[in-house]
Amino acid sequence: MTAVISPVSGAQIADVPATSVEETDAVIQRAHEAFPAWRAVSPGDRARLLRRFSQVVDDHIEELAQLEVTNSGHTIGNARWEAGNVRDVLAYYAGAPERLFGRQIPVPGGVDMTFHEPIGVVGIIVPWNFPMPIAGWGFAPALAAGCTVVLKPAEVTPLTAIRLGELALQAGIPEGVFTVIPGKGSVVGERFVTHPLVCKVVFTGSTEVGERIMAGCAPQIKRVTLELGGKSANVVFADADLERAAATAPYGVFDNAGQDCCARSRILVERSVFDRFMALLEPAVAGVRVEEPSLDTAEMGPLITAAHRETVASYVDDAQVAFRGSCPDGPGFWFPPTVIVPTSESDRAYREEIFGPVVAVMPFEDEADAIRMANDSDFGLSGSIWSRDIGRALRVSRGVESGNLSVNSHSSVRYWTPFGGFKRSGLGRELGPDAPEAFTETKNVFIATD
Ligand code: NDP
Repeated sequence: MTAVISPVSGAQIADVPATSVEETDAVIQRAHEAFPAWRAVSPGDRARLLRRFSQVVDDHIEELAQLEVTNSGHTIGNARWEAGNVRDVLAYYAGAPERLFGRQIPVPGGVDMTFHEPIGVVGIIVPWNFPMPIAGWGFAPALAAGCTVVLKPAEVTPLTAIRLGELALQAGIPEGVFTVIPGKGSVVGERFVTHPLVCKVVFTGSTEVGERIMAGCAPQIKRVTLELGGKSANVVFADADLERAAATAPYGVFDNAGQDCCARSRILVERSVFDRFMALLEPAVAGVRVEEPSLDTAEMGPLITAAHRETVASYVDDAQVAFRGSCPDGPGFWFPPTVIVPTSESDRAYREEIFGPVVAVMPFEDEADAIRMANDSDFGLSGSIWSRDIGRALRVSRGVESGNLSVNSHSSVRYWTPFGGFKRSGLGRELGPDAPEAFTETKNVFIATD
């Protein structure tokens, strides 16, 4: 068994089974056996089942949200949004089974038709930072495509995923079609990679583990989607609405206590307005409400574990702090929102993903310099551009090597649009209208007419 600890109180809140390799194999085998019947469910019926699953999630939003507040320390506002996101993503992809269109291609001597064939069992490995949405972004399109799913939540945050597995059964999703198995990454997750009956691995987590997953999938030419780390830039030009850029910047990086792969953890500000921006940013950071996450007013909760808090603190120990917000004392893994001013672009805190409420602010000279600095990173996941000049905003958006950008906004993930990273931030895309196709292989069938 694995003890589950609440980051809010530091106390144990549950004991969860640590699934063994043998048990994992048995679950994968059941998912494999469930596949032929699930893919044979008519598109309309599969759509109806997914809609019912969405409805059952909707009926349990509050329960799921409370579970996430306790298990992950998410603010209640965020946790309700996250549970609602699972509902909405299921409802969105419920439209897919009836729209998995192939093509009809004219060829000499006949006609060719293409089919999107579901690939089989999909293994989904979820990190601890957004346990519900990241699970849903994988399992909803996979189920819609006709695949069966085995899902491993992060060891420290398994509770909402386990509950979603139960709700799927309650909604009528057949046994073996969607199974949640808690356990260690090195045991359950690794088995998804090595087991020959798992046809695709969907991994979200650190770049380090992502590399291992990709290498591990290679011998079987196993399909893989990787959503990895980030060190995204929030680029603020002198002609921007500085008040709005500064007032919203804290929420672009400190949301979920900065434990967000899309966090804008580098703010790049045009030198001519650097001091003015910092003067506006300081009260905005001081105003972030870091408090008991079950309060409706909470804007930021604690970090996930004591060990992670130590890692985050180690980045601040050797950095120049400009100013900080506040956080509660006492139990819980609290860390205040912190703004640092790196002395060089090679500073560790400026280059590495901290995954905590720490943001580095640096000046840039002009448009070319802004693009250079934004791209001077191994990562390329997200980012923002603040400017009133729409031509410049578009030029810079095209110049920044990143998968998800927003202009005059910090919006990152919308289920209607494709999500994924450039460079070492990942491989492949999730979400958007084409996501179910990533759980299929395209087959072409030629029919001779001569
Ligand atoms: P990890 O990479 O450590 O863990 C992610 C998941 O992988 C967990 O379920 C973990 O299990 C599992 N795992 C660990 N080792 C292995 C292995 N050898 N084989 C298979 N699975 C394994 O990342 P974190 O949980 O620490 O998440 C934080 C990181 O994830 C950050 O770098 C962040 O940027 C990135 N991330 C990226 C996102 C994106 O969409 N691009 C979204 C969210 C996070 P266990 O719990 O047992 O360790």
